[in-house]
Amino acid sequence: MRRKAWPPSWKSGPATGRGSNMAIIAFIGVGNMGGGMALNLVKAGHEVWAFDLSADTLARVVAGGATAATSAADAAAGADVIITMLPAGSHVRAAYEGDLFAVAQPHAILIDCSTIDVATAKAMGEAAASKGLAMVDAPVSGGTAAADGGTLTFMVGGPDAAFATAQPILEKMGKAVIHAGGAGMGQAAKICNNMILGATMVATAEAFVLAEKLGLEAQTFFDISSKASGQSWAMTSDCPVPGPVPTAPSNRDYAGGFAAALMLKDLKLACQAAQGAGASVPMGAEAEALYQLFVNNGGAATDFSGIIRLLRG
Ligand code: NAD
Repeated sequence: MRRKAWPPSWKSGPATGRGSNMAIIAFIGVGNMGGGMALNLVKAGHEVWAFDLSADTLARVVAGGATAATSAADAAAGADVIITMLPAGSHVRAAYEGDLFAVAQPHAILIDCSTIDVATAKAMGEAAASKGLAMVDAPVSGGTAAADGGTLTFMVGGPDAAFATAQPILEKMGKAVIHAGGAGMGQAAKICNNMILGATMVATAEAFVLAEKLGLEAQTFFDISSKASGQSWAMTSDCPVPGPVPTAPSNRDYAGGFAAALMLKDLKLACQAAQGAGASVPMGAEAEALYQLFVNNGGAATDFSGIIRLLRG
């Protein structure tokens, strides 16, 4: 074994010092989001064993102080904390069922931070529980800047005890850690929130287009609506027209920000969950259709406020 025998009492140890509350953390998937998150755990003094299918991606976190593992199982064996930040539910299921459940130490806490479907999150939480392992789903709100800066918001689903164990680790990567309920409820909160965001962005963008066509200046409309009942995060933080919000991606040709492809992914997850739950989500479904069209027309990599281009026709 290449690791020191860390006491399993790391969770309740004093505030500083290795061997106290400093944990051995396996981090699987260190891409755009996971890379910054893993580095914040290194900065907090934890011993991070990282693994990614991409050698270049892995090299970035190794340069920042993480240790390269040769596989997910290699990273997770002997870890106190196992974190996954992977693209979708199929990757998460394959990782946990393939290796992670089998090699996890009995005291380890399993934390999936990926945005995935509620059904898979619930299934993974239940599978962990049946093996006597503690697991939470903990998807994030906030993009790569928040991942790098340690200011993410975590929405956490899982048993109370698992949440309590995960919380101090998540706090090293975020500004807010909120317990949403049992297994899968972190994912439920994430997709419901992003369904509001997607539909609100479409409504905001079409209102700016209508204002333009009616002869109302964009800045004037912003000054009024941002202080009236049309106000929203989409308007005041990610305004789809350039000018009123200088930091918004609309000022740099919609580069950066939250990619339309990721918004489409979240809207698909929301509509799929709604179908399974028998909920009617006509606005969410319409937003999904419009983002699908936008992505099909080359908008995938642009910020999701770029949907205004589609609406202008
Ligand atoms: P990404 O593609 O940059 O990173 C995913 C990483 O996982 C990649 O580096 C890939 O090589 C690696 N990977 C895939 N399968 C693997 C496996 N089996 N073992 C090890 N590594 C594997 O994606 P990202 O932007 O970091 O997003 C990760 C998750 O976070 C997604 O679920 C996404 O929806 C969610 N999310 C992203 C953002 C954002 O702004 N990028 C914001 C909130 C949530």
